[in-house]
Amino acid sequence: MHLIDRIDHWASVSPEHPAHVSGNSVLTFAQLKAQSDALAAHIHSQTAGKPGPVAVVGHKEPEMLVAFLAAVKAGRPYIPIDISVPAQRAEKILASSGAVLVLKPETIAALNLAPAPAPEKRVEAGDPFYILFTSGSTGEPKGVVITLANLEAFLDWMCAEQKFPAMGEVFLNQAPFSFDLSVMDLYLSLSTGGTLFSVTKDDVASLKNLYLALGRSEVSTWVSTPSFAQMCLIERGFNQAMLPNLRRFLFCGETLAPETASQLLDRFPNAVVWNTYGPTEATVATTSILVDRPVLAEFSPLPVGRAMPGTELLIISEDGNPVPEGERGEIHIVGPNVSPGYLARPDLTGKAFYFRAGTPAYRTGDWGRCRNSLIFFEGRMDGQIKLHGYRIELGDLEANLRALPEVADALVLPVLKQGKVDALTAFVVPAAPVQGSEFEFSSKLKTALGQRIPVYMVPRKFRFLDAFPMTPNGKADRRKLAELLESSP
Ligand code: AMP
Repeated sequence: MHLIDRIDHWASVSPEHPAHVSGNSVLTFAQLKAQSDALAAHIHSQTAGKPGPVAVVGHKEPEMLVAFLAAVKAGRPYIPIDISVPAQRAEKILASSGAVLVLKPETIAALNLAPAPAPEKRVEAGDPFYILFTSGSTGEPKGVVITLANLEAFLDWMCAEQKFPAMGEVFLNQAPFSFDLSVMDLYLSLSTGGTLFSVTKDDVASLKNLYLALGRSEVSTWVSTPSFAQMCLIERGFNQAMLPNLRRFLFCGETLAPETASQLLDRFPNAVVWNTYGPTEATVATTSILVDRPVLAEFSPLPVGRAMPGTELLIISEDGNPVPEGERGEIHIVGPNVSPGYLARPDLTGKAFYFRAGTPAYRTGDWGRCRNSLIFFEGRMDGQIKLHGYRIELGDLEANLRALPEVADALVLPVLKQGKVDALTAFVVPAAPVQGSEFEFSSKLKTALGQRIPVYMVPRKFRFLDAFPMTPNGKADRRKLAELLESSP
C-alpha cells in the first residue's frame, strides 16, 4: 500500500488516536489527515506550473508533520529545516534547492484553511519524497534525494524485523527533522498508527525537564543516537521505573559502545537494544543487530549488524574489487534503499553513486570489514566525523572559518576521549595580529561562525598560530597539529 494511504488509514480506524505529541501540542490522526489534505490543496494552487520542492522550517511542531505530508500529497518532495540551522545556511539551502514555497508552523496556522480534498497527483514510487541537506566537504551543504521507493524499502524492512503492533507504540523522537535519524521514528510511527513523542530543544536544555518529559511520555520504542542515551544515563533514575513501557532501543548514526548497551540492559530489564548503521544516502539504516548479552560477551567493539534483506553490503578494496572475507575495505551499499543522488550536483553524485548490475550503489567512505555476514564499522576514510551524533565534514567547517575576514587559514581537528570524538579544536592563522585577548578573539570568531553554521559544528576551542607546520611535500601537517593537541589539550 502507498505510504500515504498507510498513514491516512489510521484516521479512519481511530481518528482521535494521537499521531504526534510535542510540548503541549497533540495532533490526532484525523487532524493530520484533514490538515495535510487541505494544505496539499493550497500548495497545489499556489505552485501550479512551478517545479521545485517545498521547504519546511520549524522545530518539531505538529505543523511540520502536516506540511511534510501536504507536500508529498501535492506531488512535491519536502526539505525539512530545523531552526537550529542558521539563517545564512538555510538561505543557501533554499537557493540551491529551488524551493517553490517555504512553510513555517506559524504561517501554516495563520492560513486558516477550509477543509479540502488533497490533489490527485501525489508523489509516486520513483519520485523524490524528501531531500535532506547534510554537511558537504566544501562548505556548501548537499541535498540527499530520497524517493518514496527508497523510504518504503527501509520501512518495510524495519516493520518486518521489529513487528510493531498496530497502534501499539509510542516512539521517541530525539533528532530534529533535518537529520535522517528522525525519519526512523517519524515514519515507523505514522505508518504503524503509533504516537510520535518529540523531545524539544526546551526539554533538552535542562536535564531535569528532559527526565520529567520522558517520565510523562509513555515511550515504548526509543530512537536516538547513542550519545543521547549516554547523556540520559548520567541520571541514576533513568531506568525502567522512569519509562515503564519501554521495550526497545533503536540506535543509529554513530558507534554504540558496548558499555552503553550493557548499562541500558541493566537499567531496562524489559527492553532490548538494537544497533543499526547507515548513511542518509541509503535511507537512514541498512544493517541491524540485536545487541543482547551473548553479543556483548562475544564482541568488543560491537558489529553494526547484517544487511537488510534485498540490499547488499560490499567491502571494496582500493582497486575496486571485493576484498576477501574478514579484510578491511570501503563499505559500499547496493540496493533499493540507495538514493538516486545529490540534488542538482551531478559532479558529487557521479563520485559517490554508481550502478552495480543495474542496482543503485553508494560508496559510503566508511572503512569496514565483514565476518560471517556481520559488518564491522571501522571509522571514516575522509574528514567526516560524528560529534554527539551529528555528521560534520571538517572541510565544511574549515571553509566557513576561512571565509571570515579575520582568518587567513584554518584547520579543525577532532579531540578524542576514549576513542570517540568529544569536541573540536580549530587551529587558526589570524589575518592580522590578534587585538585584545585570545579569549575575546575566540569568542568573536565563535559568534561569527555561529551565523554561518549550526551551533553543534562550532569548535569548542581555538588555538592561534603564526603559520601551520608543514609536511615535507608542503601540505599543512595535521599530524603535527594533532601532536600539539595531545601534548597540551
Ligand atoms: P548520517 O548520514 O548522518 O546518518 O551519517 C552516516 C555516517 O554515520 C555513516 O557513514 C557512518 O560513518 C556513521 N554511522 C552511522 N551509523 C553508525 C553506527 N551504527 N556505528 C558507527 N557509525 C555509524
